[in-house]
Amino acid sequence: TFDHLFEPYTLKGVQIRNRLVVPAMGTNLGNEDGTVSQRLIDYYAARARGGFGLIVVEGVAVNPTGMCIPNEGHFWDDANIPGMRKLVDAIHAEGAKTLLQIHHAGRQTNPANIGGLQPIAPSRIACPVDNVLPREIPTEEVYRLVEDFGNAALRAKKAGFDGVDIHGAHGYLIAQFMSGHANKRTDEFGGTFEGRMRFPLLIVRSVREKCGDDFIIGFRMSYDEKVPGGRTLEESLVVAHQLEEAGVDLLDVSIMTYASTEYMSANGALPNGYNQFATEKIRSSVGIPVIAVGRITPAMGDDMLRTGKADFIAMGRGSLAEPALPAKLREGCIDEVAPCISCTQSCLGYILSDRIYASCLVNPVTGHEGEYDFTPVEAPKKVLVVGAGPAGLMAAKTAAQRGHHVVLCERSGEFGGQFRLAAVPPTKHDIAGAIRYYVTMCKKYGVDLRLNTPVDEELMRSLAPDAIVLATGSVPAMPPIEGIDNASFLSVADVLDGRVLPGAKVLIAGGGMSGVETADFLSEHFRSCTVVEMRPDIALDEEYTPRAFLMRRLAEKGVQAITSARITRFHDDGIDYEQDGEAKSARGFDNVVLAMGMRADNPLETAARAITDEVYVVGDARHAGPANKATEEGLAAGLAI
Ligand code: SF4
Repeated sequence: TFDHLFEPYTLKGVQIRNRLVVPAMGTNLGNEDGTVSQRLIDYYAARARGGFGLIVVEGVAVNPTGMCIPNEGHFWDDANIPGMRKLVDAIHAEGAKTLLQIHHAGRQTNPANIGGLQPIAPSRIACPVDNVLPREIPTEEVYRLVEDFGNAALRAKKAGFDGVDIHGAHGYLIAQFMSGHANKRTDEFGGTFEGRMRFPLLIVRSVREKCGDDFIIGFRMSYDEKVPGGRTLEESLVVAHQLEEAGVDLLDVSIMTYASTEYMSANGALPNGYNQFATEKIRSSVGIPVIAVGRITPAMGDDMLRTGKADFIAMGRGSLAEPALPAKLREGCIDEVAPCISCTQSCLGYILSDRIYASCLVNPVTGHEGEYDFTPVEAPKKVLVVGAGPAGLMAAKTAAQRGHHVVLCERSGEFGGQFRLAAVPPTKHDIAGAIRYYVTMCKKYGVDLRLNTPVDEELMRSLAPDAIVLATGSVPAMPPIEGIDNASFLSVADVLDGRVLPGAKVLIAGGGMSGVETADFLSEHFRSCTVVEMRPDIALDEEYTPRAFLMRRLAEKGVQAITSARITRFHDDGIDYEQDGEAKSARGFDNVVLAMGMRADNPLETAARAITDEVYVVGDARHAGPANKATEEGLAAGLAI
């Protein structure tokens, strides 16, 4: 029943309606000039409307050198206060309380984000990920930065926030000062634990002095930096106590720096609640409330509260996927909660790519909350959706949600298409939950779901649809290479769908995500795998954080990679290939698995267009690609009908 999640909490006189927190996450949904956009307001208002008790608005830069993503809010002067006030009002109007995260990236940025300036840091040591040599901050400038944080907090108070969240985690500027790994200073801000703590403690005191006692000061810290010589839990216990003494009211216990990004929560390789032990230790050593974060399920969160391991539960990616998570839990509709599948494709992946703003693969409405209209249509249509992969399921769900009469036909006996198989390799299990969610929602909205129903022109005509959505998926690509059409060769689907268990030695032709994850899966079963890829490395289409764990697992299991290799000929037991202009062979394998990409399978379009003018081709049937494109196209079709 999740009763503990729904107990109110009063902090500094602020009544928070439950224990569910949206932690600060950079979305890039603000305007390019650093002001608050309507899109940003709509995004946060949706999470407040969905029932979260406390919303920590994403980091704003306290100084022009502090930005780490292009559209980060500017908060080094008063210009953004009116926009922030609108944001606060929208959150408060929905019954949630809100803190503003105040932030400086330090060395974890690059000149493109900070107007061509050189990043600044405690010491002249580059962030291993951004790889830009920073300027060491002179002592007097450190004191000015303390004031910058205090002034930004005061602006937050003027904008109506209930408090601030000082970003001392994840390897940003404050964390750099706190870290023996990044801070090699010999002035009063370095050298010893006391020196390294001076910067955060002065910031906390400055915020308290400027904002008074009736204002929540939160502090986000990484309890373990997961870098050699970095801070670990033992020292973090002292850090937490000192922060409390300096005036912090609320601690948010996170983990990692950019140099250890694989530890961020959106990673299926990390177990649910992987920070739990540390949160509990820190909570027991301080007298202030503690927020827990890190792949925490609702049941686990409720149990952590029940057993006193934390006071609040943050669900970051969970709130991206399901803005109404608290409301649905409260109503007992847990099956209707859109789950985060830890793919990072549309959240972190988009922010790191030219798409720049965050969305969600499972719920692509995220980031577009004010744009899409789900109001039921006045004249419902008869809609036929062909194919029950993610694109078809999303199209069917969306069209039915808007009141259309939807029939979804799937030729196989199972829902999910290729996406279902993507759940099979290690650490990918959460994907199955997304398929289950789509099917649940289709049923809720009355979609007529028909498995084992191949569609042809005759069936299409007999259903007399007004609109047809073709989501017929993809089939394996077969590049014209001699010997490729060998009947003994296996497909990725043969392996992941449990049709064949290959022999002891397996050659996988193709080192994209599906080939490499198949190797990951087979090496779990003690198969010796060799992956052949024409690019210089394997798994290049896997997102950054899951890839770090995947590559480590493959190395541990001895998966061999032959890269920059062009396959010239297939044999029963292997291949001939060219590498660096040299002809080579890899033979003696028990099985060859073809993983050379997919191509669109769209056999019904001509027949469909002869039946109705309203035809949509979505997902892999349109262009074989990643699942986030499939759900976006399915959503677009469902909204367009
Ligand atoms: Fe989770 Fe993937 Fe959505 Fe990000 S894009 S919130 S990781 S499901």
